[in-house]
Amino acid sequence: MKIFVTGGAGYIGSHVVKALGSKGHEILVYDNLSTGHLWAVLYGRLIQGDLSDAAFLEDTIAAFQPEAVIHFAASIQVEESVREPLKYYRNNVANTLNLLEAMNHCGICNLIYSSTAAVYGIPETIPVSEIAPLCPINPYGVSKAMVESILKDLAKSGSFSYIALRYFNVAGADPEGLIGQAYAEATHLITRSLKTAKGEYDRLSIYGTDYPTPDGSCIRDYIHVNDLADAHVAALEHLMAGNGSEIMNCGYGHGFSVKEVVAAAKHVTGIDFTVVETGHRAGDPPALVANSSRLRNKTGWTPRYDDLELIIRTAWEWEKRLSQMATSRK
Ligand code: UDP
Repeated sequence: MKIFVTGGAGYIGSHVVKALGSKGHEILVYDNLSTGHLWAVLYGRLIQGDLSDAAFLEDTIAAFQPEAVIHFAASIQVEESVREPLKYYRNNVANTLNLLEAMNHCGICNLIYSSTAAVYGIPETIPVSEIAPLCPINPYGVSKAMVESILKDLAKSGSFSYIALRYFNVAGADPEGLIGQAYAEATHLITRSLKTAKGEYDRLSIYGTDYPTPDGSCIRDYIHVNDLADAHVAALEHLMAGNGSEIMNCGYGHGFSVKEVVAAAKHVTGIDFTVVETGHRAGDPPALVANSSRLRNKTGWTPRYDDLELIIRTAWEWEKRLSQMATSRK
């Protein structure tokens, strides 16, 4: 199948491109390389372009004529979204409109959309299922919920179909060692912990220990990036089989606190890095854990890496590889 992938040079996108490419799909990645990397695209071709360039985007889609689009390209940091909301509405909402219009003009009606657990805000029930109300508490979550509304209306208006995958906390790296998370500035907990273990930061801050959770730190459902990649493949197959539009949580269904993750990172690395407890980070809900039975039941998705230490170990191997890459470039 011909698949157009926005943001396919990024962390999650590159793992999905690998999963699809290894199954023989023909892939065109569209990425502005603002946070992605050319080396991360292991299959298909990459066109460097920005979603804000509506004419170039549409020309590229028209020339490729994909059967489906997977849309990763977005701004994804909760705390940044609180400081710079317009960036999030521009990149995540306005640019997605450009993509949807281009698809519409070219007659492409199948989309897999990267959504997020942040659309739930502070859920009343944990694990949270897809029918829970959407009450995002930060501009990142609002921007993703806005696009979900647009997709719902678009699907009602005609032949357009989509699956929105609501990601919980994605972590880890492909064990083959060629791709992984490689942002200039690490903000996510597991990456930040491992970079602190490597000595890139002098301490790790735990953002809040007075949340209403057993140990006072926030709880998240950490999913390995390859399990998430498999979820995309399964969702795409489900969509292309004509099953109609759907929204699916992507997580394992159990969570770990920040303190538990930090303890596991120390255990995996064998390094007792410095940890300090600080105030809350803006926009953080206390607990987010997925009810992923819809994804499991409807697509047959079965996780392969549901083990926190395994996730951290793959991320740690990747961090060491990144250090080698940096040394060999010098
Ligand atoms: N967190 C932390 N210290 C860090 C980074 C993150 O205590 O250096 C916490 C953060 O407050 C949240 C959890 O770890 O409760 C997961 O944050 P992350 O940024 O990894 O993902 P998010 O849940 O924001 O998507």
